[in-house]
Amino acid sequence: MPSNWDRVIGQTRIKGILRSAVSGGRVAHAYLLWGNAGVGKDALAIEVARVLLCARGGDEACGTCSSCRKMDSLQHPNLHLIFPLPGSDAKKSAGDDDGQPDTEVVDEIRRQTAEKAKDPYFHIDIPKAKFIRIPSIRDIRKQSSMSGAEQGKRIFVIFDAEAMNDEAANSLLKVLEEPLEGVHFLLVTSRKDAMKQTILSRCQLLQCATLTDKEIAAALMERQRMSEQEAAMVARLANGSYTRAVELISSEITQFRTDVAPFLRSILGASQIKLMEEQEEYLTGNKRDRAEQLLAMILVWFRDAVMLREGGRHHLFNADQEEDLVRFTGRFGTKDLEACMDAAERALELLRRNVYLPLVMLSLIVQLRRILHAK
Ligand SMILES: [Zn+2]
Repeated sequence: MPSNWDRVIGQTRIKGILRSAVSGGRVAHAYLLWGNAGVGKDALAIEVARVLLCARGGDEACGTCSSCRKMDSLQHPNLHLIFPLPGSDAKKSAGDDDGQPDTEVVDEIRRQTAEKAKDPYFHIDIPKAKFIRIPSIRDIRKQSSMSGAEQGKRIFVIFDAEAMNDEAANSLLKVLEEPLEGVHFLLVTSRKDAMKQTILSRCQLLQCATLTDKEIAAALMERQRMSEQEAAMVARLANGSYTRAVELISSEITQFRTDVAPFLRSILGASQIKLMEEQEEYLTGNKRDRAEQLLAMILVWFRDAVMLREGGRHHLFNADQEEDLVRFTGRFGTKDLEACMDAAERALELLRRNVYLPLVMLSLIVQLRRILHAK
């Protein structure tokens, strides 16, 4: 049966725990949702807030009451979203810090909060923000100590909770040590190791799983209107993170897509010295993220080449690079392209297991040369 909890992709176990806590009246004062980036921790926190604030009071949000409607824009007066903000050290006098961010920052917060309301998988990232600052936490203490009886529950969601500085963390700790009726804290982090033990000990810890390829693919088909085949391909590359999957199909990736043809041209060229020069960035550097993106795109390239060879022109992921692909398969179509896919996939796996980057790249290059230059 469809449920408003479906806004959160996968995470069946955590949803179950939270739903039964709500229906059993055992909602903790503080939860810490932790796990890898992009698996839906923020989305879970927002959904819990929606359920707790819903006027109907069931274990899922009704979606229609006035509270739920306010939650649709994340503008509920009892919902407090806290995230890292830029410091105000730009101000001349230190005593001047009233904790109010500049107009520019306020606009940015408004814009990004609206974005988050539309898509809970959007990550709020205010430029130059480093820490969750003390005024935001002081605000919590003030807000949470207000009599809540007639105003209903108060929910504080702290995104990127590891970004609290010592002062902020100590201040929050005091609030957590004296829990107030109807006040709930939902802390979210992808870096639990960077959180203070004292804070962790005050929270119920909920570990969010990495998403399965199937869950990501289904979400991509539904939310990004991708075909089944494309969605399956992207899901495979996303390493359990929905946000990563969306990044992969966004325009930022275009550059890496267009890097693939020159990369292959370079590594298949005759001169090995020239090759070492041209690929210096990957063979001596440590740009793992960049390399990972490139490897993912190389994998997609070979998958497209196989597709093209088998006449599946309309299923190309890199439809905009069809010309290059046609040229490539014209020349290498008889080679073992599946083995190239395997090699790229293995390289990607090694990189994710933190194997030394130059080694991974060199070994991939040697393998691709061997396969594609085979007689
Ligand atoms: Zn409702």
